Amino acid sequence: IKVLGIETSCDETSAAVILNGRKVLSNVISSQIDIHKKFGGVVPEVASRKHVEAVCNVVKQALDEAGLSFKDIDVIAATYGPGLVGALLVGLSYAKGLALSLNKPFIGVNHIEGHISANYIAHTNLEPPFVCLVVSGGHTHLVYVKDYGEYEIIGRTRDDAAGEAYDKVARAIGLGYPGGPLIDKLAKEGDKNAIKFPRAYLEDESFDFSFSGLKSAVLNYLNKMNMQGLEINRADVAASFQQSVVEVLVDKSITAAKYKGVDTLCIAGGVASNSELRNQLEKRCKKEGIRFLYPNTILCTDNAAMIACAGYYDYIKYGPSKLSLNAVASLKIGERCE
Ligand code: ATP
Ligand code: MG
Ligand code: FE
Repeated sequence: IKVLGIETSCDETSAAVILNGRKVLSNVISSQIDIHKKFGGVVPEVASRKHVEAVCNVVKQALDEAGLSFKDIDVIAATYGPGLVGALLVGLSYAKGLALSLNKPFIGVNHIEGHISANYIAHTNLEPPFVCLVVSGGHTHLVYVKDYGEYEIIGRTRDDAAGEAYDKVARAIGLGYPGGPLIDKLAKEGDKNAIKFPRAYLEDESFDFSFSGLKSAVLNYLNKMNMQGLEINRADVAASFQQSVVEVLVDKSITAAKYKGVDTLCIAGGVASNSELRNQLEKRCKKEGIRFLYPNTILCTDNAAMIACAGYYDYIKYGPSKLSLNAVASLKIGERCE
C-alpha cells in the first residue's frame, strides 16, 4: 500500500509517499521559517496563505521523487489537527479534493500521533507497546502506545510546552527564532550547574509537567542581573535552563516506562532532536535496561512522512475517514473525530 501524506498544521508545507507504512519513497518539506522569523513566531494568517501557494507543487514534487503518478497512490492521508485551523484546512481540503477526484480513500491523521509514528519509520523493527515522550513546539505528553493507533495519555504539561519554554528563554537571552536549536548549541559552551533554576516535579508520582515557573525564574534571574549591572553569561543561562528541563523529562520518562512495564522508550517532536535530552536519556536507559529510540532530526520536526505512516496504520485498523471530516484545532491524542 502506498500512502500519500500531506501536512500543513503549522509552518511547514510537506508531502510524502510511504510504502507499507515504513519505507519512505519521498518526503518533501517546504518551510516558511524565514518568513515568520521577522515576527519572532508563526503568524497564522500568513501561514495559511503560504500553504495555499505551496501545496500543489510540494505534492507534485513528492510524487516525482517517488517516481509515481497520482494513479499509483492507494490512500491519501492529511493532518486534521491539532494545529492552526486555517493552516490545517489547506492540506485537509486539498487531500479531500484529491481523494474525491481520484476516487481513492482518504484518512485524517492526528499530528501528534504522527510525531510518535516517526519512530516506526526510523526503526523498522519497532512495534507497540512502548512509552513515548512527545516534546514539540506546542505539546509535552507522556504517552503509552498500547497498539498501532491506540494511545493513552499518562502525563501532560499543565502550562507551557517544552519547545515553547525553549523558544521563550531563547528570546529573553537575545537568540533568534526558533530558539530550541540555538539554546542546544549555546549550552554546549556553558556550565549546566552554574545557576540553580527550579525543577518542577509537581506532586509525588505525577507524570505531569510544568515549565512556566522555570521560564519565570529565568526571566527574574535576567532582570536581577541587569538591575545590579552584572554581566550575564548567556551560555551558562542556556545550559542551566536546559538542565532543569532535561532532568525532569528524563526522570519522568524513565519512571513512566517502568510503571507501564515496557522495554522501549521513544521520544518524538521537535525537542526530541535536542542533544542533551538524547545523551541523558541514552545513559539512563542503558543503566535501567530500557531500549531508547529516537527519529533523526528531519523526522523529529514537522514532516509528512510521519503523517503518511500514522495514516497507514489508522487506515488498516479503522478504515477511511468521511470526506466531511473537519479541521480540529485542539484535537487530543487518541481522539478520533468523524
Ligand atoms: P506541535 O507539534 O506541538 O503542534 P510544532 O509542530 O510547531 O508544534 P515541532 O515542529 O514538533 O513543533 O517542534 C518545533 C519546536 O522544537 C520548537 O519549539 C523548537 O524550538 C524545538 N526544537 C527544535 N530543535 C531543538 C533542539 N535541538 N533543542 C531544543 N528544542 C528544539
Ligand atoms: Mg514548524
Ligand atoms: Fe509538530
